[in-house]
Amino acid sequence: MNKRTGSSKARSGKKTPSSALIDLPVQKNEEYIADIVGLGYDGEGVGRVNGFTLFIPGALPGEQVRTKVIGLKKQFGFGKLLEVVETSPDRIAAPCPIYNQCGGCQLQHLSYEGQLRHKRQIVVDALERIGKLNVAGSSEDGIVVHPVSGMDNPWQYRNKAQVPIGEIDGGLVGGFYAQGSHRIIDMEACLIQHEDNDRVVSQVKAIARRLGIKPYNEETGHGELRHVIVKIGFRTSDIMVVLVTRQANFANKEQLVSEIREAVPGVKSICQNINAKLTNVIFGDHTDVLWGSDVIYDFIGDVKFAISARSFYQVNPVQTEVLYRTALNYAGLTGSETVIDAYCGIGTISLFLARQAGHVHGVEIVAEAIADARRNAELNDLHNVSFAVGKAEEVIPAWRAAGITADVIVVDPPRKGCEPELLETMIAMRPERIVYVSCNPATLARDLRILEDGGYRTVEVQPVDMFPHTVHIETVAGLCRKDS
Ligand code: SAH
Repeated sequence: MNKRTGSSKARSGKKTPSSALIDLPVQKNEEYIADIVGLGYDGEGVGRVNGFTLFIPGALPGEQVRTKVIGLKKQFGFGKLLEVVETSPDRIAAPCPIYNQCGGCQLQHLSYEGQLRHKRQIVVDALERIGKLNVAGSSEDGIVVHPVSGMDNPWQYRNKAQVPIGEIDGGLVGGFYAQGSHRIIDMEACLIQHEDNDRVVSQVKAIARRLGIKPYNEETGHGELRHVIVKIGFRTSDIMVVLVTRQANFANKEQLVSEIREAVPGVKSICQNINAKLTNVIFGDHTDVLWGSDVIYDFIGDVKFAISARSFYQVNPVQTEVLYRTALNYAGLTGSETVIDAYCGIGTISLFLARQAGHVHGVEIVAEAIADARRNAELNDLHNVSFAVGKAEEVIPAWRAAGITADVIVVDPPRKGCEPELLETMIAMRPERIVYVSCNPATLARDLRILEDGGYRTVEVQPVDMFPHTVHIETVAGLCRKDS
């Protein structure tokens, strides 16, 4: 296939398609009317033309659009949206003025209600097509897939702003990379960001400009300020500012810190991370506290968390609580159970469950996250939790070999889902209940099929909208043992 594409490219002056593509029902550079039947993984419309699939960014399900084919493979193609011929009732004007340039959000042209409906459909489709599972509604006694838990106010939900700094016409700018490039576009407001974060980023940029702090230049490797990160505790209003710089020392550093302190009354911590590498990775290995505390605090439910410059913390704290309450509910704890929390990160789910459990064992691959988890357990005076560093698919089989059993197993894996060894061990451990928290409906459906075949029944599934206006969807599934 590559070879053929290559040879057609070599003759790219002509519009003749390569022989492999000549029999397809659509041709490159031609215009067609497409019916949009669904949303793809990147929020693009999935269109049909004469039975052939075209991915068309900007088109919405239920619409008819005029499109020009700009890319073609044997099984599918890519179309540019030229005109919406029949408009979806869910289509709205994107509220953000830089929506098209930025790319951070993908669904602002779809009403929020429409987004929630489509996200539920993505979960249902995955369960049925990939998991071969029966969903209630289409079968009599299938899995209950609840409507997506959305936000009352789906804006300004992020607690962390992470802004690249650069230079345009000799002036310091900070905002976002224009889609598909490394050109930084200046931005003063992001509609999904907590307004205090936006305000603090703007203040830091203005102070840096006034003090003549040199923005970092990705191409030459010169300059100083690379990123500004601002975190806020929604419940505490604590603010942390992290300055990522090329070197430890630079002109006007002290002045920069004292002016940030003056300009930002709620600031509790100003940190510096040093990254001298010629890379677009944000953080270097070394972090210093320039002023104040090394952490800020926030709460999820009544559990208190310490957030450091580098630690991972969920970016939508309002919906995180919804997600964890659902997990707690599906775990069905009465106070005596032994729980395993696999892929536990900084122990957020473990600690959230610990007050209603006998003991919680957390396991996570990143050592620093486990250090945070232990510190957070201490902070909340929780002594019935223990944490291990390692791969879930290795540590949990070792626990089993050592005679540890679990009444409930919670998993919250990354996008690729659980390893087969872990799923096998879970089935062999025979917990009463399994709670599967997932950021990828496709791997969730694949893994639920394995658990069903191993003797578990998926009872209900709750999608939670953690990232409104983006394509991401988080899902909690509650399973119980078929024979219990
Ligand atoms: N449950 C946490 C974090 C979930 S994100 C929360 O709600 O905040 C998934 C986590 O899995 C990450 O922290 C990642 O470092 C970890 N991880 C990835 N692969 C792993 C593996 N094989 N074993 C254990 N943890 C893993």
